[in-house]
Order: sequence, then C-alpha cells, then structure tokens
Amino acid sequence: VEQRLYLGLDFGTSGARYALIDKEGKIRAEGKREYPLYMSEETIDWVKSWRSTLFGLLEDIPVSFRPAVASISIDGTSATTMIVDSKTGESLCKPLLYNQSCPEALPIVKAIAPANHTVCSGSSTLCKLVSWWSSSDAPNISAVLLHQADWLLWLLHGKLGVSDYNNALKVGYDPEVESYPPWLLSQPYSSLLPRVQAPGTTIGSIKESIRTQFGFPEDCVICTGTTDSIAAFLAARANQPGKAVTSLGSTLAIKLLSTKRVEDARFGVYSHRLDDKWLVGGASNTGGAVLRQIFTDDQLEKLSQQINPAETSPLDYYPLQDVGERFPVADPKMEPRLHPRPESDVEYLHGILESIARIEANGYNLLKELGATPVEEVFTAGGGSKNEKWIKIRERVLGLPVHKALQTEAAYGAALLAMKGAFAQ
Ligand code: ADP
Repeated sequence: VEQRLYLGLDFGTSGARYALIDKEGKIRAEGKREYPLYMSEETIDWVKSWRSTLFGLLEDIPVSFRPAVASISIDGTSATTMIVDSKTGESLCKPLLYNQSCPEALPIVKAIAPANHTVCSGSSTLCKLVSWWSSSDAPNISAVLLHQADWLLWLLHGKLGVSDYNNALKVGYDPEVESYPPWLLSQPYSSLLPRVQAPGTTIGSIKESIRTQFGFPEDCVICTGTTDSIAAFLAARANQPGKAVTSLGSTLAIKLLSTKRVEDARFGVYSHRLDDKWLVGGASNTGGAVLRQIFTDDQLEKLSQQINPAETSPLDYYPLQDVGERFPVADPKMEPRLHPRPESDVEYLHGILESIARIEANGYNLLKELGATPVEEVFTAGGGSKNEKWIKIRERVLGLPVHKALQTEAAYGAALLAMKGAFAQ
C-alpha cells in the first residue's frame, strides 16, 4: 500500500499551487496554475476562475497518488471576502478582493469597534461585510460570509459556514477567547458570520461526487485552512517560540513565534493565533524593491560576491521607495536615505544590505520591547534569501543564527495543516 499523503493548495495573489507531501514532509508532487481570466459584465469572474483553478489543480495531481491522499487543506488571500446564499452557496455578489477598500464602511466600523482594532482598515473583511449589508436589500436575504479559502474548501466538503481563526481575524473574531466579540454579535449582520475552528481542523469528508471523479480514497477528509502569508510561515517549520521568518521580497516582513500576544496599531504590529502560541508580525517599507531600482538582479549577484560580510559597513542608510515608514519606526514623513553614494558599487551595496539588516534587527528588538518572546533563530524567505553574503551580514548584525528556509511555498504550509488535521483524527 502506498504511504499516506497530504494535499495543500495555495490561492495566492498571482496564481495557485498545490503541494502533496508525505508524513516526513517530503514533496511527492507539486504544480502551479495561473488564474484564467473569465469575464462577466466587463470584470473578471473570480468565482468561475477560482473554481476552475481548484479543479484544474486536482486534475494535475498524478492519478497514481490520488488514492493515497488522506486530507486536503487550502490557504487563500487574507480578507478576500465572499457573500453567498446560505442554502445554495451561490455567490450573492462579486468576491471582494484582499486589497479592495470600502472607505464608506470605515466610519461605521470605527463607530462600533474598539479603537485601533484590526477591523479598522478600509480593506478589512468587516468593512467589506458592512459595505455589502448597507448597499443592497441584504437584510431580507439569508446569507453567509466566507473567506476565499473557506469557499474553496466548501466546494470540496459541502458544509456551508465554516472558517478558521486566521482568516476570521480581519472580520473581528477574537482567537484568544474563541468567539466573536459582543460589539460584533450585537450587529444585525452577525448572523452572516461563519463558525470558526483552529486551522488544520477536520471539517468532514470530501464530497462523494468529487471523491469518485478524482479517485480520492473513502476516508479522505477536508481540513480548515489559513491565510496565504501564514501558510508561507508554516512552510518554514519555525515551530518553537523564538523562531522567526524574515521575508526579503519587495518589502521586508518579519514574523516571530511568541508565547505572548502583542499588538500595537502605531507600528502595524498584530498577532495571529497558532494553536497555543502567537505569530507576531511587522512589515517595513524597506526591502528589495529599492535594490531593484539601483541594480539588476545580475549585478546584485556579482557585486555581492565581492562583499566581505565580516567587515562592518560605515554607511548608514534608510532605503525606502517612497516617503514614509511604519515599522520599526512609525513615521509617515520619513525620507528615504541613500547618500552619500561611494564610488565603489560593492561598498554601496554593502552599505544598503547592512542598513536593511539593521532595520530588521530593530524590528525584532521592537517586538521584544512590545512583550514578544525574544528572537533566537531566523529563517529567510523571498528573493533576497538566496544572497549568502547578506545572510552572513545579517548574522553579524542580528547576533543570531540565520538560515535560508528550506520550504517557503504557502502550498507546503497548507499541506502541513492537512497533515495536522489527519493526525488529529
Ligand atoms: P515579491 O515581494 O515581489 O514577491 P520576491 O520574493 O520575488 O519579491 O523578491 C524579489 C526581490 O528580491 C527583488 O526586489 C530583488 O531586489 C531581490 N533580490 C533578487 N536577487 C537578489 C540578490 N541576489 N540579493 C539581494 N536581493 C535580491
């Protein structure tokens, strides 16, 4: 008999992927699909596009592996919101995408939520719900709110109205007390809120029709998911307090596993629950986008080779693409600082990489000051993670072991959630 396998699907901003892993965490199959751009009424029909991508990815899984799939989980973009009919599951409006803002709903949300709550942002799930509620004959319709991942999972298990506490954070769910807060439950639209479980909890069996169509086994279960950025963190398997993942992409984002929940709206710092721990995050506007404005990726590689990472650069920059910083310094008027530029490009790049490393170190220090578990070890994801010299510079500046994360794909993190759900059975 083939070893049991666990399937994770990631629905990210630019496309979707799957990863099929075994219980040792080895990838047995993986694949990727772009979202097809079906149009309806001159806009993209995301419902159709995501559905066809989901079933397309299931078709991409080698037939020989399918009978071994014990469980499936899915991550989606955070705050991507759908309102569906509570009986048929049919979409009652176009999906409201993660980055879509509902400014007209913000004053209404601010009037009911505590100051600086995560829902107090125009693109929060709650603003999207309030916007829908106030713009249609909504009160007469029996509807349910689902996040993108919830809805995709529903296509597989068929039980309407289930979410996880990572996706539900931006609609106002409190994962610490495991319920929606009273100020939210007293609103007329609270009947639309899905019930919430821990990520990686078994929801039920896969639908019989889908099971037989694709050849999944009879005991294949569907498990609650998470958001795409949390799934990417899970992929790195930084699963002890004090372990962290720095993402060096266009911007710099840090995520630290902590025993304590910390929040500070001034710095955009907040915590997601992960079982009995908290995932504390902060995002700076510095990062690789500035590097790309100055150097090509090819130059970055060649110049980096000539850097001596043991040497401290005397250059003190604050690389930003635009004016303004939020974390680890909250200053909307902060100016980018990239001068003086030395004659040598090697020295210049060394100065920039080291300056970004100092911002990273300040970020982890700030999280500690706010009460999080002190960082002990850093894994790295994103385009900058392949730069070995930068890793050495960061080890010196942070005074900590720094490694490239072995796995960084969100689909891999979703597969780990599927495994968690299957093991808890
Ligand atoms: P995104 O956040 O856009 O998904 P990626 O994770 O793909 O970004 O990372 C892209 C970034 O990686 C670019 O902004 C680029 O400056 C940076 N990058 C690429 N190669 C290197 C390198 N060798 N050293 C440092 N940074 C690099």
